[in-house]
Amino acid sequence: MSEERIEGQPKYAPGTHVRSKDIRERKITYTWWEPEAQYAFSLGPANSRFLKELKAGKIIGRTCRKCDRVIVPPRMFCDWCYDTTHEWVYLKDTGTVETFSISYLDPDAHLIEDPILVGVISIDGASPKHGFMHYFGEMKPEDLRIGMKVKAVWKPKEERVGSVTDIKYFKPLIGGDE
Ligand SMILES: [Zn+2]
Repeated sequence: MSEERIEGQPKYAPGTHVRSKDIRERKITYTWWEPEAQYAFSLGPANSRFLKELKAGKIIGRTCRKCDRVIVPPRMFCDWCYDTTHEWVYLKDTGTVETFSISYLDPDAHLIEDPILVGVISIDGASPKHGFMHYFGEMKPEDLRIGMKVKAVWKPKEERVGSVTDIKYFKPLIGGDE
């Protein structure tokens, strides 16, 4: 088990840290059971196309003419009017910060010095408040603001796999950076 103490950790709840690393290195007692569950998971046509386009460095949405809106991530059925959606439409890789969180905990729930910045971004070209959650980068936590304009930073083409993480993070959009 890790004996490390992190500065700033409350003294009233010292506990013993267990990290994913401790499990991998078999430093703690655990049981392992591999279920033989067999299943298939289909992303469906909307998400499949969305991820394929991300691999190509593009963000794509779907329109609902009835509701006059552009939906991203795309759906084949409109969740407002329950009708089928109509056209594919390419969107910009820029957007607006709708909400955000500054996390000083890593995925193992340990304190970290450099916080993880995440939030919801509405994508330019989609209807207002339509977008998705992602990381922010190339900015200080104190610079992050609701309403801030941001732009996607893509992984190099050869590293993209058809995932939302083909976008590394969103960085501040400086005037003329589009
Ligand atoms: Zn609709």
